[in-house]
Amino acid sequence: MSLRLIANWKLNGSKEFNDQWAQEFFKNFSSSNFKSIGIAPACIYIDHFRKVIGECGIEIGAQNICDEDSGARTGEISASMIKDLDCKFSLIGHSERRIFFHESNKTISKKLNQANNNSVMPILCIGETADENQKNNTYDVLESQISEALQDLIELNSLIIAYEPVWAIGTGKTPNPEEVNTVHKMIKDVVQSRFPKIGLKSVLYGGSVNSKNASSLFSLEHIDGALVGGASLNGKEFAQIANILNELY
Ligand code: PEP
Repeated sequence: MSLRLIANWKLNGSKEFNDQWAQEFFKNFSSSNFKSIGIAPACIYIDHFRKVIGECGIEIGAQNICDEDSGARTGEISASMIKDLDCKFSLIGHSERRIFFHESNKTISKKLNQANNNSVMPILCIGETADENQKNNTYDVLESQISEALQDLIELNSLIIAYEPVWAIGTGKTPNPEEVNTVHKMIKDVVQSRFPKIGLKSVLYGGSVNSKNASSLFSLEHIDGALVGGASLNGKEFAQIANILNELY
């Protein structure tokens, strides 16, 4: 499975939202190829959303998993639990988790391990802050986020990395697509040279992607797809982004 377009619904949604979203999405999606699309609703709605979309082929995943498999971690959800709900992937290390829940690269590494042990595809999110970007520290920050997250995982069957500059998330600002392309190439080179036993499937871009800027991003060699937050909450808008991706691949 290689996901190319993932919706991150964050702390949004309801049963009614799921129903309306699916109606809008299916009305506007112009292909029958759902295989590379993933949706990460709030965990509590996973089963409901699966019933709403049926067996169309869209993968459902989680926005986060615990770094432990079971035990005294009140409120947490493990990789084995989401696997039990037939989830195929989980976001790991989203910048909102790093900022609001103080997740370290060490914790993120443990979460990657949990995902790997349970055959859940990890979507490792990395990205620099505005300050780091202005100081031209982007490469160093990304390299250390990758290295620290992956160093204890000698082998990882499959991995997707989402490059999400923190300053581009939810702000309407996006880096120049050529810059994103260069960063993605660097990410692929770092993983391939330093972690040759890790199966990197794709590198997605995330940060204010919408149907207007999608084709300028997707047309570049190393941008394999996108992780979409705000724009994914609108079923029609997300379908339009998916249509653009489908036309290019
Ligand atoms: C995200 O939070 O992963 C994201 C990409 O958000 P947005 O598309 O709203 O910038």
